[in-house]
Amino acid sequence: MPRISTRTSAQASSCSIPTPWPPSMRSRSSAQARSSGSRRKSEGIRLESQNGHSDDAVRGRPCLSVRRSAVPNLAAVMPRLGEIEVRDVGEPVLGAREAAVEIRSVGICGSDVTYYRVGRIGDWVVDGPLILGHEASGVVTAVGEDVSRVAVGDRVAIEPGTPCRDCDDCLRGRYHLCSRLAFLATPPYDGALVQRLAIDERNLFALPDGLSFDDGAMLEPLSVGIWACRRAGLEPGDRVLVTGAGPVGTFAAQAARAFGAGSVTMVDVSPFRLEIARTLGFEAESADSPSTATFDVLLECSGAPGALAQGLARLGNHGRAAMVGLPKQPVELPLSSLNARELTVSLVNRYAHTWPTAIDLVASGRVDVRTIVTHHFDLDATEDALNLSATDPNSMKAIIHPQAAATV
Ligand SMILES: [Zn+2]
Ligand SMILES: [Zn+2]
Repeated sequence: MPRISTRTSAQASSCSIPTPWPPSMRSRSSAQARSSGSRRKSEGIRLESQNGHSDDAVRGRPCLSVRRSAVPNLAAVMPRLGEIEVRDVGEPVLGAREAAVEIRSVGICGSDVTYYRVGRIGDWVVDGPLILGHEASGVVTAVGEDVSRVAVGDRVAIEPGTPCRDCDDCLRGRYHLCSRLAFLATPPYDGALVQRLAIDERNLFALPDGLSFDDGAMLEPLSVGIWACRRAGLEPGDRVLVTGAGPVGTFAAQAARAFGAGSVTMVDVSPFRLEIARTLGFEAESADSPSTATFDVLLECSGAPGALAQGLARLGNHGRAAMVGLPKQPVELPLSSLNARELTVSLVNRYAHTWPTAIDLVASGRVDVRTIVTHHFDLDATEDALNLSATDPNSMKAIIHPQAAATV
């Protein structure tokens, strides 16, 4: 059972949580992010002390100024690897162009599970308490003084990356590659497993009436699938192979179909996931017994070490691949045989400009997000949600509802 904090405001204000992270886990990238003017908080549990400064300042970490209010703002905080505690993190203070969003649905992603278990993904290293969750939707409950795009009461989906909007990458439209991108639940930035969150209004997209909050949370993994299709240069009529039938692969397959793919075949090792693929109308192959069919486009969504090379072997001349899954180890490719067919491999790092398309695809019924959501949890059961993929082979996507939580 997750522990529920019962600390009082005065106790909490001491900010005296010891750092449980060994020095070796402190990442250069996090430190750089902190010193490069990033204005977002690192933990969401930093509280100003009564004498006006916080332990964050003492420890050289940025501090989210928060204020206590009568209504607690509960979050699922990961104080140490593999542990979650539900705590009151205080009310977020809004910047001029920020809105407070009461979070209703948060999808659990493979990256959340990796941070929870392993504490790092590539150069992103968890080096202090962190709030997970980046697939989120909710209701606007307050707005900063310069907010004009959203209003109190709006139902919104959240794009989790906040770029600087000023650097060369941002100005060229590839804002997802901004070196100062503050991305929910990517260290040192806290995520969305909290009852109320402050975020720039430009990250918010109004949900049409037909879309539920769960649908809104699923626009983030759907965005990855959309971006994979765009990176692969998918054209109408393409025969598409999707390796990995998890949530992202299943969204990528649906996006490919919506963009005009002539056929879509999904490959996975899980009979449960292949059955979902068939339910959604796709050809489904077991990874153990693949067919000999040839394809124009590969969307690699499994992250399995050999999946990219095996998938590329099945592409015809001028085949195109987008690599979404990230194997931990370096990947070897037989370039001489790929060269003979003039294949193209594109890497995929999240997405840009995808929310409007994602909303249209779901609202028009061309993408089914509800079949993919298999489990629901209260905030108090965040650990169960994070452990779900390990404990239940018949699971696909868990959604946490932060408003359903015990009160402090
Ligand atoms: Zn995700
Ligand atoms: Zn930028």
